[in-house]
Order: sequence, then structure tokens, then C-alpha cells
Amino acid sequence: MSITSKINEIRSTLPAGVTLVAVSKTHPVEAIREAYDGGQRIFGESRPQELKAKYEALPRDIEWHMIGHLQTNKVKYIAPFVSMIHSVDSLRLMEVIDREARKCDRTIDCLLEIHVAREQSKTGWKYADLLAEVRRGAFAQFGNVRVRGVMCIATNTEDEAVVRADFERLVEYRNELAPHFGEAFNVVSMGMSDDYPLAVECGSTMVRVGSKIFGYRNYL
Ligand SMILES: *Cc1c(COP(=O)(O)O)cnc(C)c1O
Repeated sequence: MSITSKINEIRSTLPAGVTLVAVSKTHPVEAIREAYDGGQRIFGESRPQELKAKYEALPRDIEWHMIGHLQTNKVKYIAPFVSMIHSVDSLRLMEVIDREARKCDRTIDCLLEIHVAREQSKTGWKYADLLAEVRRGAFAQFGNVRVRGVMCIATNTEDEAVVRADFERLVEYRNELAPHFGEAFNVVSMGMSDDYPLAVECGSTMVRVGSKIFGYRNYL
């Protein structure tokens, strides 16, 4: 099946209001171009330099989403053009995004990545720490960042009940955080190739699908 038919097939299962981010990390510009020609405009990448190189090689109306762990010293590569950063998991990172966005005279949409998975290794805010920062107003100081919502990576398991509980927890967190942010705080980014139908059932508004569109890849 072609990349475009895979995208169309996934799209046909998504309710209105759920955005598909096509995760193109590790895949060549030609594969992205094929998806683009089929109408896809939103792509997700996890490495800043790779993201920048692809941005430079491809049409300017693509919306690029940074979905992977982001080091503060790499923000500068993507700040001039990135549409959304899904992986904000510290105030330090938020500060640097804000500063780099200001240098470019831009406002960058960001999501708060929250740790919900059972694995220790997964990145993201510990929710209690995030809530404490939000309550003390720590996010009010950022003039060039717009906090749009929350993101998670669910536990990597075949056990659907565990994954469902992770997704439900993220939605609860979103509901609790929302009153502290503006109306634009309306994104719940959850669901990948193996679990996006369940994520949508649990209230996802943005799914990040890679291998199901582009095939297997050799790094995460
Ligand atoms: C790679 C990646 C995805 C896509 O994973 P697939 O299983 O290939 O769909 C989604 N989200 C994040 C944060 C990723 O790093």
C-alpha cells in the first residue's frame, strides 16, 4: 500500500477534530514528499538537526511538530519555523524556547509532556511537580510561548487496560490544568501506531503516527 493510501486509511478512522501528525523521523525527504503530494501537511520529527534539514528541503506550507525529547542547546535550530513542540518537560526548556522564539519574533505553540507510563525511563513532567509550578504561576512569565495542552507516551505493553489507564490519566490532568491556561489550551496529544484508536476513544485530539504510515525505522 502506498504512503498516501495508508494516510487516507488512518484519516478515515479519525473523528472530526482529531489531527493526524505523520511522524516522519528517520524517513527520507522523498517519503515525506509523497505524503505531502497526497495532501498531508503536518509532520512530526524527533531530532532538531534532522527536522531543520527536512524543513529546508521541503515546501514551506508544511507544519513541523517537534515530538521528541529536546535539549535546550538544540532549540535554536528549530525556533525559526517549528509549529508545535510536544515535548516540553521542564521550566528551563520552556524558558529557552521562549527566549529563542522572541529572537525570531514568533510565538511557539507548546505542549506539556506528562509522565504517565509505568516505565521509569520515559520522559515528561511528574504531574505533581507540574501542578505545583502551574499553581504558583510559573507559566505566566512566557510571552512568546503559547501552552496549547498536554502530551504523553503511554506504557509500552500489550495490556490494553494499562494503556487505557495512561490515556485516561492524561485527560484528567488536562481537565485539572485547563482552568490555569487560556482557551487555546485544548490539545491532547496521545496515540501512536499501535494505540491511536484507543487514544481517540479516550479523548485524544492529536495522534502521532509513524511506522503505520512510513514503515519500520532503525531508531526511536
Ligand atoms: C516515534 C514517535 C511516535 C510515532 O511512533 P510509531 O509507533 O512509529 O507510530 C510518536 N510519538 C513520539 C513521541 C515518538 O517519538
